[in-house]
Amino acid sequence: MYRIRFHGRGGQGMKTASRLLGAAFFLEGFAVQDAPRYGAERRGAPIFAYVRADRGPIFERGIILHPDLVIVADDSLVPVPAAGVMAGLTDRTVLLISTPQTADEWRHRLNISSTVFTLPAPEAVEDRLELRYVGAECAGAAACLTGVISKEKLERAIRDELEGKTQKVIHRNIEMSFEGYDRMADHKGLVQEGTLPSAKEYTPPAWIEVPFEVARISSPSIHTGLTSIMVRTGLWRTMRPVIDYNHCKKCWWICSASCPDGAISVNEEGAPEIDYDHCKGCLTCVSVCPSHAIKTIPEHKIAAAEEAS
Ligand code: SF4
Ligand code: SF4
Repeated sequence: MYRIRFHGRGGQGMKTASRLLGAAFFLEGFAVQDAPRYGAERRGAPIFAYVRADRGPIFERGIILHPDLVIVADDSLVPVPAAGVMAGLTDRTVLLISTPQTADEWRHRLNISSTVFTLPAPEAVEDRLELRYVGAECAGAAACLTGVISKEKLERAIRDELEGKTQKVIHRNIEMSFEGYDRMADHKGLVQEGTLPSAKEYTPPAWIEVPFEVARISSPSIHTGLTSIMVRTGLWRTMRPVIDYNHCKKCWWICSASCPDGAISVNEEGAPEIDYDHCKGCLTCVSVCPSHAIKTIPEHKIAAAEEAS
């Protein structure tokens, strides 16, 4: 059975990528499961989608723990623990990353012995969420790496799955998927099917006694407030809103009231301040600011500047 996991951010088309690959497997005669899994449904939040494909019926359920192939559409997710990109990787897992860096750099950085391939991603692009069709490119590359999906079936899968979109969009998706496919041509068939787990090797968990508690203790009740503060949603951000105080008119009731996460507070001078640990980068504040005093800076530029200093 092939077990393939796609990682990306909401808005990068990972759900579509898994559907395209799953449909192409199906057209080649495989039984298929494909499903996305979201954390928070919003643009920029880490999501993953997975595909299982087998010549026989698939009885395995749930998330893929030990994938044969992991595809990462946004390299900024690799170091984010919540994205789980590296979860369950084994020496035989192939890792494919869309990135401006080389495969050797990633192998060295991650200190892994797995095979790593890259799809070139432009470094100059401001917001990687604007890279439309990266999902189609990843699906095409994955199809080639399995070695069991022809370009013909891939194209048919795209036409079937994207029915209702404009011809221009369908054509561009086909073009990008073929580009991904051709980039992996030298490694066609390199991803091998993983074996099925053996029931004989399964060790059942030991019996656990769960003592009965009285209702007052056992019923769930949360007595501690503000626990959401501990969830640092700032890790989701791809673009950072930065207030230019030379242009800010201190009409804080506009931006602070518009932030869906309450991440803009007002200081004693009446100026707004952004809490970057909890700002998710939705950029609502940027769009409502009447003075255009909030600029956006790509996070990768800030990280590069911090690294250089
Ligand atoms: S809306 Fe814009 S100008 Fe008004 S306080 Fe917020 S950042 Fe400053
Ligand atoms: S981008 Fe602006 S509105 Fe969105 S979470 Fe951050 S501070 Fe709040």
